[in-house]
Amino acid sequence: MEDVVCKFGGSSLANFENIQKVKDIILSSKKRFVVVSAPGKQDKNDIKLTDCLINCFNLSKLDKDFSKFFDIFKDRFVKIKQQAKVRINLKTIFLEIYKRILSHNDFDYDYIISRGEYLSALIISKYLGYRFLDAKDFIFFDKSGEVDLISSKIAFKKLIKKDECYVIPGFYGLSFNNRIKTFSRGGSDLTGAIVALLSDFIKYENYTDVDGFLVANPSIVKNAKIIKELTYKNMRTLTYLGANVLHQDCLKFLKENDIILNLRNTFNSKNCGSLILPDKFKDKIGAKIIGLSGKKDYSVVEFRSYDIQKYFFVINVFDRVLRQNGLRIEQIISSIDCINFIVDKSDFDEIILTKIEDELICEYENNHISNKDFQIKITNNVCLIAIVCNSFNLEILNKIFTSIIKEKDFLFISKSLTESSVFVGYKNDNFENILNKLYKKLF
Ligand code: ASP
Repeated sequence: MEDVVCKFGGSSLANFENIQKVKDIILSSKKRFVVVSAPGKQDKNDIKLTDCLINCFNLSKLDKDFSKFFDIFKDRFVKIKQQAKVRINLKTIFLEIYKRILSHNDFDYDYIISRGEYLSALIISKYLGYRFLDAKDFIFFDKSGEVDLISSKIAFKKLIKKDECYVIPGFYGLSFNNRIKTFSRGGSDLTGAIVALLSDFIKYENYTDVDGFLVANPSIVKNAKIIKELTYKNMRTLTYLGANVLHQDCLKFLKENDIILNLRNTFNSKNCGSLILPDKFKDKIGAKIIGLSGKKDYSVVEFRSYDIQKYFFVINVFDRVLRQNGLRIEQIISSIDCINFIVDKSDFDEIILTKIEDELICEYENNHISNKDFQIKITNNVCLIAIVCNSFNLEILNKIFTSIIKEKDFLFISKSLTESSVFVGYKNDNFENILNKLYKKLF
């Protein structure tokens, strides 16, 4: 028996054929805890069963016929159950879900959309000869909607018997008022991390349909390589600019116990995938460029004034006005006489600019500054690219600098004191092209 938590995503469980592959992986080393998603898409034109349930609820709320989606949901499970040759009374379960969809109470929404995971775990536990452990019996949310790790751990330890293996439905737990509560979409990743934390295991295997964390977004860079090892921090920087293989909040739970996450492919299980390691392993990985990520549609708002050190209140003004308008400062770069705000909007509009100028003038007056001589310049349609590094050496720095500056449309570069990643700004238009060129030069 292997002390490991493994989680299988929707595509790994989309049909019986895939579930057989999952079984081989699990039983190859009798993995102790298995967390499952709801069956996902079998091909591009298919639908995830969680989406079926969401559609049922939304249609029912509009008093519309939801039978088409409910039938898809039922038929898929009936087929899997029959092929797996397990005995479960699906009819009663379907009836209960149907009744709740029909009465479409908002407080039942999370219960309804979590039933894909529930049924998936029920069937797979029987198929594997593992015990079924319902997540609602040990993942508890507190009043603020956070997982209460202390009470969850007490409940988990009480439920678990030595030498038993378990299948657990992902994506949900129990709210403080005893209702099923789901995480945000993709939340089974979090269930896996939580189970690893509660069981004091240091290894969490997360199986998807890709070979691991890729060096760059595969929809832009074809045949991007796999990152064999990266730290939590490297992953955070990659996901910050759009790389999305895992649920963003996973790190929160992994960090608590320095859990090692292994991202693997169900359909290519011989491949070792990517290892996401606690930050203390930074030196083991050494000086290396880890990956590239990037996003389009930012703007750079430059505030310029002589002797800017006196005027740091401008940061608060920008932050306040931008927030009031639903925008966010993504990064700040400052120099002797200017501060650059990188804002998550490609076309920064005049109305917001006027609001900022008005508030700045008020603030100057409040601070008794008579010289209100400042300029604001806007550069729209900017993309931000992160070159994620584990740590530097001269050779790497040289490689990065020569690669980024040679690109036309280059706008700016930033790197903080302790972070090993470099952020680069370019004009939007050539984003895909630039990413491809950087990939070729750097990897
Ligand atoms: N089935 C849920 C979703 O589609 C949760 C998950 O798969 O992790 O978001």
